Amino acid sequence: MKKDILLLDGANGTCLWAKTGDNGPVWRFNKLFPDAVKELASEYIDAGSDFVLSNTFSANRPSVAPFDFSVEEIVREGVILAKDAAGDRARVLLDIGPLTGLLIPFGNIAKEEARECFREMMKYGMMEKPDGIFLETFMDLEMLKIACEEARQYDVPLLCSMSFTKYNPKKGGRTMFGNTPKQIAETLAEFGPEAIGLNCSEGPEETLPIIKEYGEVTDIPLIYKPNAGKPKVEGGSEVDYSDFAEEVSKAAEVPGLKYIGGCCGSSPLYIKALAEKIRTL
Ligand SMILES: [Zn+2]
Repeated sequence: MKKDILLLDGANGTCLWAKTGDNGPVWRFNKLFPDAVKELASEYIDAGSDFVLSNTFSANRPSVAPFDFSVEEIVREGVILAKDAAGDRARVLLDIGPLTGLLIPFGNIAKEEARECFREMMKYGMMEKPDGIFLETFMDLEMLKIACEEARQYDVPLLCSMSFTKYNPKKGGRTMFGNTPKQIAETLAEFGPEAIGLNCSEGPEETLPIIKEYGEVTDIPLIYKPNAGKPKVEGGSEVDYSDFAEEVSKAAEVPGLKYIGGCCGSSPLYIKALAEKIRTL
């Protein structure tokens, strides 16, 4: 394996739905199906992941409120399960995604409300001592900044990743809010992130030019964790595991690339193929 590249995990949601047969919010599984959550993390580590994410992506107050659970129990349990699976074989990152909905004036979430939600998740997550915080799939740099400000209350490595729309060769990489890799890198620099980059988005082919663009505009280490393309009606994803490994590993050439993995539609099989591919580089 290229010594300077670390392997992240793959999808959580799509794999946990398949494992449990329950298609509801997967953070509930920390209490409902803890063995399945732990088993998936173990499978990723067996496949080669150096890091696994806690199953806490959207376990924020507005999402959890309608259910008979508390943010505290879900988030703490998420980190505990990942740490149990990891032991001393891998490290665990507290996973936090964006809030559902948009900040005022585009939507109805006030900045202070967003801040409270991220603060609460981090407060409980950090009680279980993960090795870092992973902010991912953000589409609005303003919302990500709020989460970064809260994360900086803790002295742990901070990884920040945004989701991009379909690549436009004329305009370059853009998030749904029009944020560019350059703008993202410049804005996040003040938080001293361990790494920044992209996840999910539109599959490896569409995102390779975007991670290259990141490499041209910043010296901050990079994260590349794309999804496996669109889900297929008959099940599975557009990009199979060997094509995924082939495509995603091309990002290893990008200067500064440090963290690599998969997002929606990927599975331990994809991460294993990717680990094997990178080992040959
Ligand atoms: Zn995804």
